[in-house]
Amino acid sequence: MSSDDGFVTHLESAIDGTTFEARAEHTVHQGRPLWVRYDLPAVASALAKHALEARSPNMWRYRELLPVPPGRPVISLHESVTPLVECPKLASRFGLPQVWIKDESRLPTGSFKARGMAVAVNMAVRFGRRRLAVPSNGNAGGALAAYAAAAGAEAYVFMPADTPRGNVEECVLAGARTFLVDGLIGDCAKIVRQHAEAMDWFDLSALKEPYRLEGKKTMGLELAEQMNWRLPDWILYPTGGGTGLIGMWKAFQELAALGWLEDRSLPRMVAVQSDGCAPIPRAFEAAQRFAEPWPDPHTVASGLRVPSAIGDFLILDAVRQSGGRALAVEESRIEEWQSLAAGLTGLGICPETGACVGALDQLIHTGTIRPSDRVVLFNTASATKYALGVVLDLPRLHPSADPADSLRTIRTQAPPR
Ligand SMILES: *Cc1c(COP(=O)(O)O)cnc(C)c1O
Repeated sequence: MSSDDGFVTHLESAIDGTTFEARAEHTVHQGRPLWVRYDLPAVASALAKHALEARSPNMWRYRELLPVPPGRPVISLHESVTPLVECPKLASRFGLPQVWIKDESRLPTGSFKARGMAVAVNMAVRFGRRRLAVPSNGNAGGALAAYAAAAGAEAYVFMPADTPRGNVEECVLAGARTFLVDGLIGDCAKIVRQHAEAMDWFDLSALKEPYRLEGKKTMGLELAEQMNWRLPDWILYPTGGGTGLIGMWKAFQELAALGWLEDRSLPRMVAVQSDGCAPIPRAFEAAQRFAEPWPDPHTVASGLRVPSAIGDFLILDAVRQSGGRALAVEESRIEEWQSLAAGLTGLGICPETGACVGALDQLIHTGTIRPSDRVVLFNTASATKYALGVVLDLPRLHPSADPADSLRTIRTQAPPR
């Protein structure tokens, strides 16, 4: 293979192993996702892991493990390596020595969805596609809008009408054709599917093209490098369509095949959902390979409102192979955990990550996570993208009032010393 094409060898059906030519555009096989496969022995001999140290701190430092051909111009909004923040107060609140949060809110458009769209939009443009469409609960739409703008391509975004307003506005701001749908993400996906041919859309629905997964895989590559190639014992990940969790698990397999990991044991992957929409935990408990659609899904963690996912079996495989868990937390407590974590860390914790804090609580109480375990949570988006739902009953100050009155009001808010 010429180096111009990078190290991709072929695409492979995740459901039955059928292979496909990587240079052509492919979507799904039997309605199920495709893997991008690489010549990993060739990557291992072309790239030593310490050579990464000299590279720029962004996701393209792993270009040998990405489908975008090396050396070609890349549409990029500077996808910086996100910080792995040690959170001692959060750790001690749960009786652990160490907890880290990988803070994905620092990426372009404030969520990890940028990683997937950065790769997928580059590939779509490479295939000569200029009309890109996505169904979205919020952050995927915002990310597509941004990357399409950068690429000079058209974005069409379809969102449930009750999607957080900030997500809708960012799509409009970036010039995406934005549509509100009276329905759920599946209804949005149906509209994209129905009109894809007539509109000549490249369908960027989660896992209906193989490249967003590759972009999200870089979360796992970065985490491994940041932890000096010794992965944590547990990863708690808020799971919707599952691309992030599946992508990280793929990253760990590839790193193991490259011989880059210092430790043979891989992290236990925990897929966290809300009990208002928990198809994956339900299938996990019932030992099923696929998940039944969840009726009447509801959650404030909009990224988790995915009642049915075509990668369900891949999420469940990753969870089971890793010795992890799929668990649902109480919907009514997500905002409580979100503000607990925000208050103990200073990070802009999104509600999806609030659910992960609830899962941490549960797993510690049941003795599943032990005090000596090293735990990583993912903060998948910035809190500022949501109508936060924080109840505001704030004291008012009047500039013309007696300063003593103001001071009294201020003191009512000060904790005793
Ligand atoms: C999309 C999204 C998720 C779910 O991620 P998947 O990889 O689709 O499972 C979690 N949190 C936020 C903030 C999201 O936008």
